[in-house]
Amino acid sequence: MTLSEKQWRFTLMIALLIQYAQAKGFRLTFGEAYRPPEQAAANAKKGSGITNSLHTQRLAVDFNLFVNGEYKTRTEDYQALGEYWESLGGSWGGRFKSNPDGNHFSLEHNGVR
Ligand SMILES: [Zn+2]
Repeated sequence: MTLSEKQWRFTLMIALLIQYAQAKGFRLTFGEAYRPPEQAAANAKKGSGITNSLHTQRLAVDFNLFVNGEYKTRTEDYQALGEYWESLGGSWGGRFKSNPDGNHFSLEHNGVR
């Protein structure tokens, strides 16, 4: 599968995730999607990111979650969405060992999540 085909598959998966969230009564807005490599490098320098982030490959999206009008920020708040995402074959940031990131939804590429 080429990177472009993978990006396309990822985008279709995100469409399903958004529809799932809607059916569950969750409201999603986009946080960060594409991140330029220069930005990823700057974040890594500040200790708040990794240079090979899948955001730079268009294979990761961070969402903002609202439930009953309330902005949710804890990883646990995203559990149902994360499990659904995993059922589609995606990688959920809530499973990250060192720095759980519940709002991060990605598609593994070359061993990176
Ligand atoms: Zn992310």
